[in-house]
Amino acid sequence: MKIIAANFKMNGNTQFIRNWFSNFNTDTENLVVVGLPAIYLENSVRNFNTSNLKIAAQNVSKFNIPGAYTGQISPAMLKDVGVEFCIIGHSEARDYFSEDNESIYEKYSCLKSVNIKSIVCIGESLEVREAKNQLNFISDQIEKFKTMEDEIIFAYEPIWAIGTGLVPTQDQIEEMSCHIKSHFSQKISVLYGGSVNSNNSSEILNMKNIDGVLVGGASLNAEEFANIAQS
Ligand code: PEP
Repeated sequence: MKIIAANFKMNGNTQFIRNWFSNFNTDTENLVVVGLPAIYLENSVRNFNTSNLKIAAQNVSKFNIPGAYTGQISPAMLKDVGVEFCIIGHSEARDYFSEDNESIYEKYSCLKSVNIKSIVCIGESLEVREAKNQLNFISDQIEKFKTMEDEIIFAYEPIWAIGTGLVPTQDQIEEMSCHIKSHFSQKISVLYGGSVNSNNSSEILNMKNIDGVLVGGASLNAEEFANIAQS
């Protein structure tokens, strides 16, 4: 069983999401995780969560204790409405909201305390890869997690592959996945993300050290995403 995760980002509305779920063919042995904008989570959990389809948040506050954090949603609030997964550390959140490895780790810990599974996004820029520094860069991103003993789900998303149509070679993906796993003694899942679609998903999902995919753009089309989930 692999994890097939969708990230709608800031797309969709009530009608779009309703249509998406009615068009999405859930007939897969994989675990499907659908990351929705926060405002649609509660209703979607109520209507669309099943044993192999889980609704995910796309981000969360690093603060878990109620208080003066205007605009924030806490891990406990996600838990309250039945959310079981949360994407954290996405490169867009790191970039637009200055999130760093420290705050992403804090989010992971808070989510863990309420039993929500994180999908921790990591990935290097083109500049870092061109300087051949990608392995060290990823080691830094996961450094804080090394003390954790639980089964962590990372999504390796090279920034240069997100929304660009560029996909790393099989060797590049496998090398990074093995590199990530080499920091831990427990079972770690590594998803690949970056320009995944139904034409390349089988090849990616067949890679020995890849445990699933995280899909942005192509997930907005329910038929396309179902094809990925069934590949
Ligand atoms: C993403 O943003 O998580 C992502 C993988 O996007 P895309 O599939 O569009 O490259």
